[in-house]
Amino acid sequence: MNEENLNLSKWMQLPRCVIIGYDAINDVGKVCKDLGLSGEAIVVTGPTTRKIAGDTIADLLSDEGYDISVIEVSSASMHEVERVKERASKTSFLLGVGGGKSIDIAKLASTQLNIPFLSIPTAASHDGIASSRASISQGKGSVSVSAQAPLAVIADTRIIASAPHRLLASGCGDIISNYTAVKDWQLAHKLRGGEYSEYAATLSQMTAEIIIDAAGSIKPGLEKSARIVTKALISSGVAMSIAGSSRPASGSEHKFSHALDKIAPKPALHGEQCGVGTIMMMYLHNGDWRLIRDTLKKIGAPTNAKELDIADQHIIEALIHAHEIRPERYTILGDGLTREAAENLARITNVI
Ligand SMILES: [Zn+2]
Repeated sequence: MNEENLNLSKWMQLPRCVIIGYDAINDVGKVCKDLGLSGEAIVVTGPTTRKIAGDTIADLLSDEGYDISVIEVSSASMHEVERVKERASKTSFLLGVGGGKSIDIAKLASTQLNIPFLSIPTAASHDGIASSRASISQGKGSVSVSAQAPLAVIADTRIIASAPHRLLASGCGDIISNYTAVKDWQLAHKLRGGEYSEYAATLSQMTAEIIIDAAGSIKPGLEKSARIVTKALISSGVAMSIAGSSRPASGSEHKFSHALDKIAPKPALHGEQCGVGTIMMMYLHNGDWRLIRDTLKKIGAPTNAKELDIADQHIIEALIHAHEIRPERYTILGDGLTREAAENLARITNVI
């Protein structure tokens, strides 16, 4: 085999088992048994999510004969990842139970320990619930670290539907951002070369289209809404696994959100910022930015600075500096916007 063929081989790591449904957490024991998991396990959870699902999961697994301990984590930091790893010397698998932080920590710690992990989201606020990337806080902001995909995802739509609607709306923003992420990826592929996967791009865009089509039926407290959004978030994670990078779900709009995390004194939720970023980046791409805005509005997600509770000047600064985030990732932002262009962009799209 020549070098060229060797380079064509590619790893795609996908979840083996995905369970979405009302009271799905009750199946946790069965899922672990079916996957052949045994011995000691740690439930990684937060103080609130422990009460919502963490303790129940620990009890259900104990009843099945697993030796379970629970670790409460407070932030998605490397320090917390190390703390979990220290406790996990004899552990055969981890369970991340929470909105985002707990899953990110379980994901990265299990990757480094070389053991599997299960993702059990209590909210559908971002696409990390099924992806092979972990978002870890670093200084003021966060970095996306390569990790393993969950062995299984158990999404309990009863729990997810009872989480605050703001979280679900934020998840929709993160999915809708796939629109501009795919456009950026195509642009970068044309201008700079590099890998591009038609399959991953199509799947990613399709999940965004599903949310746009379903926007009218995404309402607070509805099990059906939780189901639609959770399925789309999982598909979005799968698209990233197929691509082997976050490219299909992270472009200029994510750069804007990461820049806001650094610049704004009190950033909004990841998906909320990405949604507003998508409105503006869609304008730069000459796409239907009004459709993005109207969809977010329908869902109840923020569409401007005021609703994000972020000052206009921080939006402008984030637009000016967004291209400096992951500079190797080429997007429509190119070498950056001038202040004048940033102000025009935010004004025309009614973000400020
Ligand atoms: Zn995201």
